[in-house]
Amino acid sequence: MRTLDPLDPLDLGSLDPLESLGFGPFFAAQHALLDRPDLVCARVAGESPGCYQLLGCRNRLGELSGRLRHQLTGPERPAVGDWVAVSCPEASDRAVIHHVFDRRTAMVRRAAGTGDRPQIVAANADAFLIVTSANRDLNPRRVERYLSAVWDSGAEPVVVLNKIDLAPDGVAAMVAAIEAVSQGVAVVPVSAATGENIGALDLHLGRGRTAGLVGSSGVGKSSLVNRILGCPLQPAAPIGDDDRGRHTTTRRELIAIPGGGLFVDTPGMRELGLLDDDGGLEASFADIAALAGSCRFRDCAHQGEPRCAVEAAVASGQLDPARLASYHKLLRELAAVERRRDPLAQARYRQRWKAVHTALRRRARTDPKLRS
Ligand code: GDP
Ligand code: ZN
Repeated sequence: MRTLDPLDPLDLGSLDPLESLGFGPFFAAQHALLDRPDLVCARVAGESPGCYQLLGCRNRLGELSGRLRHQLTGPERPAVGDWVAVSCPEASDRAVIHHVFDRRTAMVRRAAGTGDRPQIVAANADAFLIVTSANRDLNPRRVERYLSAVWDSGAEPVVVLNKIDLAPDGVAAMVAAIEAVSQGVAVVPVSAATGENIGALDLHLGRGRTAGLVGSSGVGKSSLVNRILGCPLQPAAPIGDDDRGRHTTTRRELIAIPGGGLFVDTPGMRELGLLDDDGGLEASFADIAALAGSCRFRDCAHQGEPRCAVEAAVASGQLDPARLASYHKLLRELAAVERRRDPLAQARYRQRWKAVHTALRRRARTDPKLRS
């Protein structure tokens, strides 16, 4: 077991620290355009109300400037993985965040119970490992759902078929079934338990790259992280009192991988898994699933279709209408996850990035520093 502190940015190796944290031309260009040489770049590694954990700058904690506190709302506020421009005042142990850079990628989730307000689950991840398990019936629909969420985020999807030690004979068929729905996406069979083929993931976890994990609970995400990190993920740990004696207990959610790369692991990402959970819906509504077997149409939605056995059961008093309502509500939440594709937001990203390019090109004509 390694004894290194995976939370210590000094353990990130000999690379330029910002680069090893995932900094690159996309953010360097925005920093140049900001024209604030007094500000340094840092990456958000954790958040709690009013306070952010930072990597890459002198201060481990930061807070929004007064202006940003007023200006930014909801998903515009820094999220784990975001790059920000900060000042590090001598007199305080907290950095001040003056600017949030445009995101290269964003995994978005529409939080249940908050209308359709999007929540950034992880910003600027390069890849998401979609973890599935070889010891269960493979559900290509679920893989598709995760694939579309990852494509929508702008990051690269990689499907990991874990627990191959439990089904040594079925692996080839399962890989083929995944490949059939994933169109050219890498499918990597591994065993977190035995370590078999784990090295094949290195390709997707290179230095300076940020990867997240998604997948239903029980497929082995934590085991996989432990195997790759060589030590268990750190539980929530206080990162010290600040100068005003406030106790801060944010959890570091960006974790350095020995040998390069970062894992991002936020509660929102885990909830993404819960929402898409393995037949969780069928399991908790087994009665409705059983009744649905007698509906006239195999894909009956139990919403006014002819000869619907579920609605007949409500009519006869056999099924509580409130139960059917909550089933429909859960289905709607799942649909909201699927709807995460947001062409407008995607177009805005592309436009902004184009504007950055254009402005930079214009400035490069006059600013010799920017000429390459
Ligand atoms: P998570 O909910 O996705 O984080 O899943 P966990 O990492 O907690 O794993 C769920 C269960 O699967 C645990 O009992 C693990 O020991 C087991 N498990 C994880 N990976 C493997 C594997 O590659 N092979 C086998 N046989 N069991 C595994
Ligand atoms: Zn029906």
